[in-house]
Amino acid sequence: VKETFVDVALKLPVDREFRYRVPPELAGRIALGSRVRVPFRNRSTTGFCVGFADRSDLPKVRDVLDVLDETPLLSDVLLGLARWMARRYLCSLGEALTAVLPPSVRGHRSSRTERWIEAASPPSRLEEACDRLRSSRPAQAEILRLLLDEPLGCEATELRRRVGCSPSPLRTLESAGLVRTVERPRSSRPLSGTAYREESPVPVLDRNQEAALAPIVATIRGGESRVFLLHGVTGSGKTEVYLRAIGEVVRRGRQAIVLVPEISLTPQTVARFQARLERIAVLHSHLTDAERLDQWRRIREGEADVVIGARSAVFAPTPDLGILVLDEEHETSFKQQSAPRYHARDTAVARARLQGIPVILGSATPSLESFRRAQDGEYTLLRLPNRVDGRPLPPVEIYDMTGERWIGGKPPLLGRRLRHLVQAAIERGEQVLLYLNRRGHSTYLTCHRCGHVVKCARCDITLTFHRGRQRAVCHYCSFETEPPVRCPACEGPGIRYLGAGTEKIEEEVQRLFPGCAVARLDSDTARQRGSIESTMERFRSGEIQILVGTQMIAKGLDFPNVTVVGIVSADISLHLPDFRSAERTFQQVAQVAGRTGRGSKGGLVVVQTTQPDHPAIRHSSRHDFEGFARHELPFRESLGYPPFRRLLRVLASGRQEERVRRIAGDVAAELRGVVPPDRLLGPCPAPIPFVDRRYRYHLLVKGGDDAPFERLQATIRGVAERLRDVSVVVDVDPVDTL
Ligand code: ADP
Ligand code: ZN
Repeated sequence: VKETFVDVALKLPVDREFRYRVPPELAGRIALGSRVRVPFRNRSTTGFCVGFADRSDLPKVRDVLDVLDETPLLSDVLLGLARWMARRYLCSLGEALTAVLPPSVRGHRSSRTERWIEAASPPSRLEEACDRLRSSRPAQAEILRLLLDEPLGCEATELRRRVGCSPSPLRTLESAGLVRTVERPRSSRPLSGTAYREESPVPVLDRNQEAALAPIVATIRGGESRVFLLHGVTGSGKTEVYLRAIGEVVRRGRQAIVLVPEISLTPQTVARFQARLERIAVLHSHLTDAERLDQWRRIREGEADVVIGARSAVFAPTPDLGILVLDEEHETSFKQQSAPRYHARDTAVARARLQGIPVILGSATPSLESFRRAQDGEYTLLRLPNRVDGRPLPPVEIYDMTGERWIGGKPPLLGRRLRHLVQAAIERGEQVLLYLNRRGHSTYLTCHRCGHVVKCARCDITLTFHRGRQRAVCHYCSFETEPPVRCPACEGPGIRYLGAGTEKIEEEVQRLFPGCAVARLDSDTARQRGSIESTMERFRSGEIQILVGTQMIAKGLDFPNVTVVGIVSADISLHLPDFRSAERTFQQVAQVAGRTGRGSKGGLVVVQTTQPDHPAIRHSSRHDFEGFARHELPFRESLGYPPFRRLLRVLASGRQEERVRRIAGDVAAELRGVVPPDRLLGPCPAPIPFVDRRYRYHLLVKGGDDAPFERLQATIRGVAERLRDVSVVVDVDPVDTL
C-alpha cells in the first residue's frame, strides 16, 4: 500500500476511525501504532495510526499535523487485541490503545549515562551501620538495607523513590564512605529492578503437580490455545507448575508473561522467578514513563524471556509469546477502574486465543466466573488439592463474637480465645499475624449526646480517625480534617471514637501484650516508614513477634514460625452491599489462613465473626472452595448474576442531583426499548450515593446471548451527550457495584 493516507483512532469516545492525508514532510515517518496529531472538528487532538490506505472517498481530507513517536510498539496481535477490547468494554479503539501502548515520551532523549548508588563498604559494615541507624536515622538505614539486597546497586532516582527520602540521607551516607555514586552507561541497566539471584534447588514434582503440568506441556508442544484453571490450595506448588511451563516455552526460544496483582509484585515474588529463569523484565507501577518505554522497547527486541508485571503487562510487546500466566486470578485489581475498563484476566484469555497459545489462571480461590467456565468445559480444570510434602492445611476455628463479654460498653477487639492463643504463641517464641481489612484507628466518630456521625464534607461517607496523623480522613476522596472536639450538629462535648481499624488493633495488642514487639503493615505505614520490605524482613528475622495488617499481609508471606493467624473481623466484607460479598469473604479467609501451617510447628487460624453460620465462613473454615461454589452458584443463577449473566453497569454522576437522576432515567428509558424488562435493574442511587461532591445513580443491565452489550453502546452514548455536566461511565463486567 502506498502510504498516502492513514486511518487514525482518536483517544476520544467516538465509535469510528478517521482518514487523514500524510503530508510530504511526514512521508515514511508514520508506522502502525504511531501517535499522531490531527485536526478534529475545530481543534487538534491525538490519535493512533491503525492502518494505511492509498485513497480516500471523501473529496476533502485533512492533513496529519505531526507524528509523536516514530518507533511504535504495535503489532498486528496487539492491534487485534485493542479491537477486541473496544468491542468488549464498549470503548473506542483509541481509548483501548491508550492502555495497550506505553506512554509516549516525546522529546525524551535518553542520556547515555545515569547515576547509580552502590555500596562502598563490605556487607558486614553495612549491616552494622544499618542496625545502628535504624531508630535514629530510619531513611539511611533503609537505604543500606536496600543496597544489601541489591549487590548491583540501584539507580539514584529509583532508590529515592523506593525509600521515599530526600537526597540528604544519601549525601550523609556518601560522606561517611558507606555508599558511592557511579555513572553507568544506560545500556548496562539490568532489565529488572531487583537483581539478586539466589540459587534454589529444583524440587521433584509431586504426583498432583505432574498431573497438572502434563496437559499444559502437551498444549505448548501442540501449539494450541487453551485456558487452564489451576485451582490449588495455598502452598500446593502452583508457582512450581508455572515455572516448569515457562521453562518449556523459554527453551523453545519464546517468551512468557506472568501477571500478578500489584500488591504481590514484591521482591520475594520476583526473586523466586529470578532464581530459576534468566532475562526477566519487571514492570512495576512505579516506573517513570521513560523507564516504562525503555523496558517496552527492550521487551520488543526480545531482550527478556519472561515479563513479570501487574495488569498492564498483559500488553507487553513480546516478539514471540508462548504462554500467559495469571496468578491469583480472582483478584479485583486485575480490573482497571478508569477507561478503558478492561479486565486483565479476560484480556489475557483473548490474547492467548489471538496468538494460539495456552494461558494458566491460578488461584487457591478461583473466581466463580472462571470456575463455572471450567465446569462447562470451556476451560480445563487442574487441581492441586494438597500442600506439597504432605503438610496439612491449618485448622480454622470459627469464633463467635456474640458471646463475648463487653468491656467498658464495647465488645472486645480480640476475643478470649485469640487472646489466649496469642499469649501462648509468644511465650513459645512463635509469631502471630492479625489481619483486619480496614486501616486507620476508629472507623467512625459519633456524638455521645445526639448520635450524629461525622461525615466527609464531600461524600456520604463516615470519616476514619487516623491516630498517627491525628486527622479524620475520608477513604473515598482523601478529604481530611482535624477531628472535631464538639459535635458539629448539637455542639455537645463528647465525641466517641468507635469502630476499629488496624491502628486500633495495634494499640490494643500493645496494651494486652506489653513488652512484645508489634508492627503494623498497611498502606499508611508503607507510606510513612518507607518500604514494606524492611518490615517483612524484621518479621522474617523474628525481631517482630506480632504483625498487624491489611491485605498487605494476606499475600505471599511464608514464615514457618507463624503459628497463630487471627482474622479480627470477617464481618466487614460480609456486610458490603454487593452481590459478591460472600465470595470476597471466602477468598479473604482462605488467603489469610494460607499464611500459616507451612512449617513443622503447624499453625492455627481463628476467624472472629458474629455470623458463625454464614456459608462463606463455614466453607472457608474447611478450606472447601468447591463446597462454597456449590452453595453460591445456585443463588447467583436464581438472581441472574455473574457467572450466569454478564453485567453492564451505567453510573451517572454530577453536582446536581436532579440532573444526574434525569440522565440515569433517560438511559434506562432508552434501554427499555432494547433490553427485556427483567434484565434491567434501576436506575436508583448507587450504594454509595454521594462521593467527592457528586451524586451517583446507577443501573445494571444483565446480558445474555440475545442482548449483546455491543448494541447498547450507541444508545448510552447518545443519552450521555445530552447533559455535559453529568458524567456517564459504562463499566462492562464490573468487579463491584458500589
Ligand atoms: P503456591 O504457589 O501454590 O502457594 P508454591 O509453589 O509457592 O505454592 O509452593 C510452596 C512451597 O513448596 C515453596 O516453598 C516451594 O518451593 C515448595 N515446593 C513446591 N513444589 C515442591 C515439590 N514438588 N517438592 C518440594 N517442595 C516444593
Ligand atoms: Zn470524601
